[in-house]
Amino acid sequence: MHEYSLVQSLLERVLEQARAHDATAVHSVTVRIGPAAGVEPDLFATAFEHCRQRSRVSAEAELIILSENERWSCPMCQSEIGRGHQLSCPSCDWPLRLTAGDALSLERMELEVPNHV
Ligand SMILES: [Zn+2]
Repeated sequence: MHEYSLVQSLLERVLEQARAHDATAVHSVTVRIGPAAGVEPDLFATAFEHCRQRSRVSAEAELIILSENERWSCPMCQSEIGRGHQLSCPSCDWPLRLTAGDALSLERMELEVPNHV
């Protein structure tokens, strides 16, 4: 399942950040999944539950999934057209291009960082 490999590379990035900040735990990880990213959020969440156990630092991490709306734009006049419209530009009739919504991105993470007093 490709959600597993996505989660693995996500967690690698998270743990890298956690190490860089001397964090002892990751509280939460927020990702944004576009509707055209080809990622099943349920499968992604299940994969996360499994994979986070591999490190003590991420074992308690909560996954927060934000969804993103698709955005289309016209390559001719650059106007942005929302979903639900026709697939060509209303002003120049050019076929629209998907400009957002096909990505999976790491938005933010909350780390437990011990105070260095
Ligand atoms: Zn146009």
